[in-house]
Amino acid sequence: MDHQREHLDVLIVGAGLSGIGAGYHVQTDCPWASYAIFEARDSIGGTWDLFRYPGIRSDSDMFTLGYPFRPWAGDKAIADGGSILQYIKDTAAETGVGERIRYRHKILRAEWSTDDARWFVTAERTDTGEQVELTCGFLFSCSGYYRYDHGYLPDFDGMERFQGTVVHPQHWPDDLDYAGKRVVVIGSGATAVTLIPSLAATAEHVTMLQRSPSYVTALPSKNPLANLLRRVLPERVGGTVVKWMNALATLGFFRLSRRRPKLVKRLLRLGLQRQLPAGYDIDTHFTPSYDPWDQRMCVVPDGDLFKAISAGTASVVTDRIVTFTERGLLLESGAELDADIVVTATGLELLFLGGIELAVDGEKVDVAERLTYKGMMLEGVPNLALAIGYTNASWTLKADLTAEYVTRLLNRLHDTGLRQCTPVNHDAATSPAPLLGLTSGYVQRSAHLFPKQGTAFPWQVHQSYLKDFRAMRLKPIDDGTMVFSNPDRSAA
Ligand SMILES: Cc1cc2nc3c(=O)[nH]c(=O)nc-3n(C[C@H](O)[C@H](O)[C@H](O)COP(=O)(O)OP(=O)(O)OC[C@H]3O[C@@H](n4cnc5c(N)ncnc54)[C@H](O)[C@@H]3O)c2cc1C
Repeated sequence: MDHQREHLDVLIVGAGLSGIGAGYHVQTDCPWASYAIFEARDSIGGTWDLFRYPGIRSDSDMFTLGYPFRPWAGDKAIADGGSILQYIKDTAAETGVGERIRYRHKILRAEWSTDDARWFVTAERTDTGEQVELTCGFLFSCSGYYRYDHGYLPDFDGMERFQGTVVHPQHWPDDLDYAGKRVVVIGSGATAVTLIPSLAATAEHVTMLQRSPSYVTALPSKNPLANLLRRVLPERVGGTVVKWMNALATLGFFRLSRRRPKLVKRLLRLGLQRQLPAGYDIDTHFTPSYDPWDQRMCVVPDGDLFKAISAGTASVVTDRIVTFTERGLLLESGAELDADIVVTATGLELLFLGGIELAVDGEKVDVAERLTYKGMMLEGVPNLALAIGYTNASWTLKADLTAEYVTRLLNRLHDTGLRQCTPVNHDAATSPAPLLGLTSGYVQRSAHLFPKQGTAFPWQVHQSYLKDFRAMRLKPIDDGTMVFSNPDRSAA
């Protein structure tokens, strides 16, 4: 293979929340390393730039979604999408990471060559279609977990007949006027519960149409204890204390949900009874058939969804769609919902590794057949890491541990003159289970395209910041599974 092309020590894929954090860690902890961030779009921020629907916000707290190296300074724990995007932009500008981003560069393929100890990477300029070839010593994918070009849309009967407007939240038109309109939002996930109170502020009425209910719980958007601690402690210390406080509280609630699901169901129901009008049909609309945390739980800040329902500007219908009609939707119960606008909050289409095709020494890697090592590398694939966040807590908690761990690997390679680190599975008995342990439709639909997890550490994915912190920050990187090899003979 030719050696004339550009070579980087580290190539980061994606300039979203994770990619900017990864850039910071690489330049801070491995000052010797050359690196760039290739971003397919023409803007920074990933998720927080793409999604523009009314009310877009985080549903996990910003003290854990923000970067530990630049703690979130806002007083709202649950922040709007615009503020999160600005925070990512400011972080990139302040740290200089922004200068390393090459926009409109979509990575298509990466082929590892053991002889050369490098990845041969092919990217496409999304503006000109031109192919860009380069090599890198380490590939760090921060490409998120879903497709950017389209969301998931079930095949609804008769959609073309509908005379009103159909919108997917992933492609929200800037000029959509919903004031005074009848809006139906199809879905019961985080996006639906976020959108509805926001639309209900000016729409004539908003109906949330769901096939089945999700767990929805209200949380205060401001955390007075966190704000007090951040005021009295120095910035970094305060950030760390509040991050741990929130991470442990979330983890504690998750564990309680797994161990005592009946108790948690009762607590959630009590919360709903307090927030919803007397006599409201909680059984039909807010009591899922599964246990808390079998699927992601939806958070509504300050109970805004329940306030809209109580005010009569929003309502919930639990039913199935038979067909779209000219005027709206016909449901299985025989009821008809008239609408001027239908929002299909039907979810994401998951995508692993930003769709990048991988090969190792000429052999295509079928990621679905590989286990993940510590939830951040692939069995038998050298010098490749992935930032994948938690499903039950803020994404950044795991993405940041991953970035830090990657810099430890990079420094080890740099210090020893070895050029390759590969997680090798010595335990033939490991039985693979799906990577994202949720029963949600969007996860189940794509499980066959994602790598698997094993039944024991380090191949098992814990979804626990505490366990990962121990495994990735405190334990040595030599664990008998990570194999360092391929000395640089030219240096001898
Ligand atoms: C509506 C919504 C709300 C969410 N709310 C929360 C929340 O409250 N808390 C939480 O923890 N998580 C939340 N998430 C998950 C969220 O995606 C993460 O919080 C976080 O933003 C992920 O950051 P990322 O940088 O890893 O990925 P992304 O934000 O998805 O960014 C990935 C970037 O990589 C680029 N890219 C992808 N493939 C390639 C390629 N092949 N070549 C070049 N570039 C590529 C993309 O263009 C994009 O810019 C939410 C997700 C959505 C969709």
